[in-house]
Amino acid sequence: MSITINNVSKKFGEFTALKDINLEIPNGKLVALLGPSGSGKSTLLRAIAGLEPPDQGQIIINGQDATHVDIRKRNIGFVFQHYALFKHLTIRQNIAFGLEIRKHPPGKTKARVQELLELIQLEGLGNRYPSQLSGGQRQRVALARALAVQPQVLLLDEPFGALDAKVRKELRSWLRKLHDEVHLTSVFVTHDQEEAMEVADEIVVMSNGKIEQVGTAEEIYEHPASPFVMSFIGEVN
Ligand code: ADP
Ligand code: MG
Repeated sequence: MSITINNVSKKFGEFTALKDINLEIPNGKLVALLGPSGSGKSTLLRAIAGLEPPDQGQIIINGQDATHVDIRKRNIGFVFQHYALFKHLTIRQNIAFGLEIRKHPPGKTKARVQELLELIQLEGLGNRYPSQLSGGQRQRVALARALAVQPQVLLLDEPFGALDAKVRKELRSWLRKLHDEVHLTSVFVTHDQEEAMEVADEIVVMSNGKIEQVGTAEEIYEHPASPFVMSFIGEVN
């Protein structure tokens, strides 16, 4: 599913969080929204999700105007920084949760959950509880849960932000591998340029509610389009 964002603006009171955003996210690509804290990345992601309708502009998903379509009617998987697994449910039950809500045929749920456990390489841990997993493993479960309902689009908001550097690095390459298997149109928010460069097909650099540059890691690194991009990419996190 491609996503087209046309002239999207969003204010919170007097404060402009998004200023006339135009962006094309091609089908099957993994795109990173990269920028410092407060640049509008989460607001844009939430607009794509339907959690925060824009004041102006349109969000077109697969050729259909989805701007004011209710989030429950959009086929979107969402993963946040702070994993919100249900503590009292096993990993298997956590992954099955969305399927049950959507009345997935019960007979097929078990097989689907097993398939997802294999995908996130936690086959043996399905009967554990979240507290018995590491932070990185829990975040993989959160991903499996988002993927369970076969979304058309996967949105990730700093999914590894709460983890330590080593685990974050592992999950990065793991997410990249997963994406290459599943080919789901995905938008990934991060303030970490190294993360964006390593994971994404394309990077959207944001600052102050505006898009500064869109390009591959190489394009952005070699030809920064503005002084902002140059200084932001030059920073070492
Ligand atoms: P980022 O994800 O890049 O850190 P956000 O999109 O979360 O940035 O926020 C962009 C700006 O909009 C910030 O200055 C933030 O304080 C403001 N903002 C975001 N959500 C709200 C809200 N619900 N009410 C008021 N201001 C908000
Ligand atoms: Mg954010």
